[in-house]
Amino acid sequence: MLEHRFVVLTAPSGSGKTTIARRLLEAFPGLRFSVSATTRPPRDGEVDGRDYHFVSVEHFRKMIEAGDLLEWQEVYPGRFYGTPTSELAKDDRVLLLDIDVMGARNIKHLYGDDVLALYIAPPSLAVLEQRLRARGTETEETLAMRLARARVELGMADVFDRVIVNDVLDDAVAETLSLVRAYLNA
Ligand code: 5GP
Repeated sequence: MLEHRFVVLTAPSGSGKTTIARRLLEAFPGLRFSVSATTRPPRDGEVDGRDYHFVSVEHFRKMIEAGDLLEWQEVYPGRFYGTPTSELAKDDRVLLLDIDVMGARNIKHLYGDDVLALYIAPPSLAVLEQRLRARGTETEETLAMRLARARVELGMADVFDRVIVNDVLDDAVAETLSLVRAYLNA
């Protein structure tokens, strides 16, 4: 197994995760974003190779068979997401993984103390629903799916080293920055 250190960020979409990830990457040059492979279509503004490697289901299956994924999950029915092992080989920087709770659990299991696993929780499911509606990227169907997923994830918070409640975004950012700073300096 390749040696590496990771900061794993897990959060339901709509919880401010993207902003927090961006702020972490700006603050710490020793951190590198791990670009996942996914079979979901790109959202407006997302760039292939930067936000995700957007691939077909067939391509994703081939990656699984070839052992090219460190971990992967069918996060939503028919929607696969995985961490390419090639991300580890690029350089020695600590990898920032934005992955779901099952993926976080698997990475923690594989790498133990070489992982700082953080969960960004919404103040409540009602607030999460409001934020997702305000963002306007979801249909009623995907919204329901994402809320159901968030409910499951909230019940599995014990997988994480710390849970950060994102009520006021600036506070959540500050808390996350200080946890990651301590971890990187350790
Ligand atoms: P989204 O479609 O909102 O970009 O991501 C949906 C969920 O998939 C999020 O919880 C995100 O963290 C998770 N995800 C993204 N990439 C990966 C990955 O490589 N592995 C796993 N297990 N989950 C991922």
